[in-house]
Amino acid sequence: MKRVLITGGAGFLGSHLCDRFIKEGFHVIAMDNLITGSVENIEHLFPLKEFEFHHHDVSKYVFVPGKLDYILHFASPASPIDYLKIPIQTLKVGSLGTHNLLGLAKNKGARILVASTSEIYGDPLEHPQKETYWGNVNTVGPRGVYDEAKRFQEAITMAYHNFHELETRIVRIFNTYGPRMRLNDGRALPAFMHQALLGKDITVFGDGSQTRSFCYVDDLIDGIYKLLLSDHSEPVNIGNPSEISIKKFAEQVVRFTGSNSKITYKDLPKDDPKQRCPDISKAKKLLEWTPKVDLNEGLEKTLSFFKEKVSSKIKA
Ligand code: UDP
Repeated sequence: MKRVLITGGAGFLGSHLCDRFIKEGFHVIAMDNLITGSVENIEHLFPLKEFEFHHHDVSKYVFVPGKLDYILHFASPASPIDYLKIPIQTLKVGSLGTHNLLGLAKNKGARILVASTSEIYGDPLEHPQKETYWGNVNTVGPRGVYDEAKRFQEAITMAYHNFHELETRIVRIFNTYGPRMRLNDGRALPAFMHQALLGKDITVFGDGSQTRSFCYVDDLIDGIYKLLLSDHSEPVNIGNPSEISIKKFAEQVVRFTGSNSKITYKDLPKDDPKQRCPDISKAKKLLEWTPKVDLNEGLEKTLSFFKEKVSSKIKA
């Protein structure tokens, strides 16, 4: 049986990866320090003998007994609110954490895939963003702790690939949504869903003309799975290229939830990217992958999760 280590395994993306690898017949070792992740996301896997959970911070030396075939490094705060609250941990998990996991991969002879992000493009001057674009990042701005940790992560991963001939994969993840996002993680989708379901004002930052391209989580996980099994070590964008302004997105969430909420406008956070949309031609060609779930279908799949979250919060 192939064995995979998934760091950040109790997080939004990590827990969906655990599900996918269990389904594919792997032995899954999830590792998480539970700063932003939650055991609730993986408790359904605890009875399985093919699943184990290690409560550990990967910024410290990582020990895993036995063989490992694959490592997926998904441990990191990933929402602007989180990395503003815990900037040092964000820097450490992207840098020291990645270094530890690369060392572990080398020691075990495992292939490693690291989770990079569209944030490495910063506030992009090229649109849509191709993998060849180098980015426009403010190193000392509020997002710098995340963006620069992820840029370092890509650099050290390529260095291990080139110098140690380690098998490495780098995925650049664009905005993703779906069940298991934290209600209060500050990101657009949970914030809008939460506000709409409570009938509260929807807080759009700036004038809402900034754009994002939202990918449903199952599509993203499928792309990552295919990239891991491919033989491509250069970075690959995975995301949904259908671009929407945040104002339109907020209106769609309100319509979808059948809410009476009104949109209110707040200050735009510093360095909030004006436009973001992946060019996914590389993933299409290399992995024969393309996202299948459109925004309506994705919101449908996500709504019942948030309804349940909001109602259990009201009861509590
Ligand atoms: N946003 C917003 N209201 C909120 C939360 C986010 O208008 O309550 C905006 C945010 O300013 C950004 C977009 O929605 O322009 C996406 O934000 P998110 O935090 O989801 O991701 P990121 O900015 O990292 O793409």
